[in-house]
Amino acid sequence: MIQDAGIENGMPKETGISLTADLCPSHRPLDRRIFTDIITEFKKVEHPVPIALSITGVWMRQHPDDLEWLKKLQADHEIYITWINHSFTHRVSLKAPLKENFLLEPGTDINFEVLETEKAMLKNGLLPSVFFRFPGLVSDQQLVFRITDFGLIPIGTDAWLAKGQQPQSGSIVLIHGNGNEPVGVTDFINLLRSKTQAIANKQWLLYDLRESVDDEFEGKD
Ligand SMILES: [Zn+2]
Repeated sequence: MIQDAGIENGMPKETGISLTADLCPSHRPLDRRIFTDIITEFKKVEHPVPIALSITGVWMRQHPDDLEWLKKLQADHEIYITWINHSFTHRVSLKAPLKENFLLEPGTDINFEVLETEKAMLKNGLLPSVFFRFPGLVSDQQLVFRITDFGLIPIGTDAWLAKGQQPQSGSIVLIHGNGNEPVGVTDFINLLRSKTQAIANKQWLLYDLRESVDDEFEGKD
């Protein structure tokens, strides 16, 4: 399997999802609707609201103001961010087949992609988590081992909204926060709106990725 290695859902008995948003390199500004909407919807039931952001070194360099805005939301306890390493350059070719694309592109320096991102996170005052998300969700077995050798855990998705995948209870939902996939964000916001009543009754919540995955491991013991 070349796509979506790693953990792709949390506890199925949970009602609700873990939200992950990717910050791949982009010239568009951060899609701030995601954050303002979850803060508003969950105001009375979850504070701060958990969200996991997969961040690239290039995005951090391109969007210092957006990064400061996110850090402020975190400092104000509006959201709790789990930072996922998403590689530094996020190389992608429009033509290459998947097995030679993204981090599988010949000549890719995996040490650089992983460690420079981590350094940039620390330099920007972000606390790296144990999670890694493959650009394009593309990897092979050897690459998975390279990543786990760093002590990192690949995190996939079972509900990439812009691809039409429907979230289930316990899903790890993927949307793009970098402005490149507004359709997925709109789908997510519509999903939130459809759950307003369940959210108010604490029957549909956002789960902290760290806890969902922890429960997943415990379940497999
Ligand atoms: Zn990406």
